[in-house]
Order: sequence, then structure tokens, then C-alpha cells
Amino acid sequence: MTAGHGHDGPFIPVEQYQSAILAVITPLPPASVALADAEGCVLAEDVTAAISLPSFDNSGMDGYAVHAKDTISSSERAPTTLQVTSEIAAGDTGTYRISPGTASKIMTGARMPDGADAVVQVEWTDGGTGQVRVYRPVEPGNAVRYAGGDAAEGETLLSAGVRMRPMQIAVAASAGRRAVKVRPRPRVVVLSTGNELTEPGTPLVPGQIWDSNSYMLAAAAREAGALARRRSGVPDDPAGMLPALEEQLDGADLLITTGGVSMGGEHDVVKAALQKLGTVAFRKVAMQPGMPQGFGTIGEKRVPIFTLPGNPVSAYVSFQLFVRPALAALQGAGDLALPAARATLTASVRSPGGRRSYLRGVLDGDQVTPLSGQGSHQIAALGRANALIVVPEQDTSLPEGRAVDVLVLPLSLLVRRGPRGGVCRFPGGAGGSSPLRPGPRGRQARSGAGPPAGQP
Ligand code: AMP
Ligand code: MG
Repeated sequence: MTAGHGHDGPFIPVEQYQSAILAVITPLPPASVALADAEGCVLAEDVTAAISLPSFDNSGMDGYAVHAKDTISSSERAPTTLQVTSEIAAGDTGTYRISPGTASKIMTGARMPDGADAVVQVEWTDGGTGQVRVYRPVEPGNAVRYAGGDAAEGETLLSAGVRMRPMQIAVAASAGRRAVKVRPRPRVVVLSTGNELTEPGTPLVPGQIWDSNSYMLAAAAREAGALARRRSGVPDDPAGMLPALEEQLDGADLLITTGGVSMGGEHDVVKAALQKLGTVAFRKVAMQPGMPQGFGTIGEKRVPIFTLPGNPVSAYVSFQLFVRPALAALQGAGDLALPAARATLTASVRSPGGRRSYLRGVLDGDQVTPLSGQGSHQIAALGRANALIVVPEQDTSLPEGRAVDVLVLPLSLLVRRGPRGGVCRFPGGAGGSSPLRPGPRGRQARSGAGPPAGQP
């Protein structure tokens, strides 16, 4: 993408802008981390079975290891009696053998004795110790877990690109891995700019607002697998802006700013400061909310930087459409795309011509209800949304009952903070096929929901 001057030029379609961003992002170099610290990270190597799984034939149940043939005529009425010659617990590394007519008492996971070809579960016996009465015949192989029955030696158990969720951690541990190679979580710094911003919890003077964007975007970045920090309320000072950004470069793999990129105000200091560098382009994307966008790189290490609009809803939608895919690319992750769905509108909607709208809505099964309050500043409605309703560029209104494309917003999963200041966690939320459980139904628009005219 080339640097522009101002938000000049024609509208750029959403997909074209997304591609231009991804063309600049390269995955972070992989690093080896202890298995416990890999949780939530994306694997950067294949994990193969060092040995077959399981590595020895063992019992699948508590019971008696036997020669299956000995049990052929067993029944409740005429049980077979076998001598119990040994007892084998899980973890017993001794070697045992049984001969015909005898049995080993055996526990789940214990190694099978030589000579035995089946296990009779304890429920089908009298549970005897010196000798045991068997009430049912068993086939060879009954309740035996054979070596390699789970995976063969050398088999690929986990492929590069998979995210290390609890199941994958278990697989790597079962494969004997103490450490795995993963892509580190991207370090994201969020800077909110604006003279009007103060910290939530401090008294407000009329004319000021509490900064919500830096909290929101840091949380959204974490939800997308990143480690995020915020630097709040950077003043609208043209001389101070670039140093404030450069200060963050050392510890950042990606920078996000909000505010200060509007369509021409002289207080739009982010745009003013970055335009001079020539490495950040400011574009008008054919969407609403979130039309004014800036993206490029900054500093010697060419750290990607997103300059998002200041209106909270615009910033949020922009994050999901542009920053989240970039964070996925940094992680080499394929699991961060917002799930798409088709749903029927329960009320009509409006949209500006020539721009694609992403309206906030509540998706419930195959129905989606547009929320009232579609202004880019209307964060209350954003807080009730679980989906974005996509209104195509050419449509200026859609009636109730129309089928529409919907993007499902991520649901936050557990946030885990380890002793080392936060290990990887699972991003993605609703992901793929998980059933969506929307929160309480939001206020519903009666009809004609759409953003007020003139929204960025
Ligand atoms: P700007 O993009 O700086 O012109 O800001 C557009 C609108 O978003 C203004 O109403 C700002 O007050 C508001 N805004 C900017 N930054 C934030 C923020 N961090 N939190 C909440 N609202 C903001
Ligand atoms: Mg501003």
C-alpha cells in the first residue's frame, strides 16, 4: 500500500483493504516454550509420536487377565474357576506370565501379562483373590488396549498451525514433549488520543469523556491471542504525537491508535504526524462505521500500525475487520476468522449507498434483530450486540424477513493470567461450530434501524 495524502482518493472496498494489510504482515518468528506456557499459542512445528501410543499392551478395565479360551463355557449358572497367580497394578513394571487355567488380577492401565489375550472385567466375576469365578465368556482382545492402538510411532499428532488448547496440550504431553515450538503472542500497544479523554473513575468536567477505546481494543487484542498494553489519553499535540508512538516501538509487534484521523480537522494529530513519515497510508474504506482508516509501518523494525477512528463503534468494527486478521497472520493462526452466518432480519434496516454497513445486531438461532442506536458513538448498543449484520454496498435498505450475512462476534473465553504475567490463552470465542448463546436480547429496533446520516 502506498502512502496517501489525507484520506484522498476513491473508496477502497473492504476486501481490497484487508488484502493490502495482510500483504505487509509476516508471522512472528517461532520460539520454543515450556509446554505449560504454550497454552493458547499457535504451534509452529508438527508434533509426532516419539513412541507408539500406548507403548505397551495394557488392560482397559479392572478385572482379570486370562486366556480367552478358558472362559468359553462360562455362565452365571456354570462359572469357570481360575487360579489367580499374580496381581498387577498400573505402574507395575515387572514382567508377569500366566499359563492356561490361571489369571492375573489386573487394574486399568496395567501392563498385560505374557500369555494373556483378554481381560474379564471384574463385574463379570466374583472378584476373588486366590481364585476367581468367571460368569461370562470373553473374546480374545476383550478390554485390552493394544500398543499403537491410539497412534503409531512417528505418526503426526499435531500439525503446525494448530492452537494449543487443553486437548492439544494433552497430546503433546502424551507424546513426551517438555517444550514445543510456537509463535509467540503478538505484543500489542494501544494508544488512545484526544484532549477530551480521562480515565474511567476520575471525575468528569463537561467536555471530557472517559476513555473506553483503549480498554476495549486491548481486550479485543487479547481475545485475538495477543498480549496487549494500553497507553491512555495521549493529548492532541502535534509535536508530541510521534515521540509518544516511537516510545512504544521497542516492546511492540503491532501498534493501534484511536482518534485523530478524521476527515480534515486540524486536531487530527495522528494523521498529521504519520503522514509526514510516508509509511502510513490513510484511506477511505467503503464501509460504515469505520470509513477513515490508516495503516502502515513505523520505525526501523517496520512495526505495523493501525490508526483507527475515535468513535468507539467504528474502532471496534475496524478492529474486527482489519486488526484481528493481522493478529492472526502474526500468529500464523487460521482460527481467528469471525464465523459467518446467514440469518433473517426481524426488522428493516437502512444503509448508505456505496458503502457496506456492519450494523450491530442480536443473532438468535437463524434470526437477527438489528439494535436501535446504530450511531458510531452509540456504545450502549454495541454492548448488547453479538453479531454484525452485513448490508451490501448497493443496498440502501433491506426489509424485515430478508436473509442477510452476519458476522458472529467473538465471545470472550476464560482469561488466564499465569505467574509469568499471562500465558497464552484461547482466542476466538464462538469459533466455528460452537453454538452461539446470545446474551439478553437487546432493545429491538421497530423498523428502519440504521445509522444516522453522516456517520464516519
Ligand atoms: P476523533 O476520531 O478523534 O475525531 O474522535 C471521534 C469521536 O470519538 C469523538 O467524539 C471522540 O470524543 C470519540 N473518542 C475518541 N477517542 C475515544 C476514546 N478513546 N474513547 C471513547 N471515545 C473516544
Ligand atoms: Mg480526537
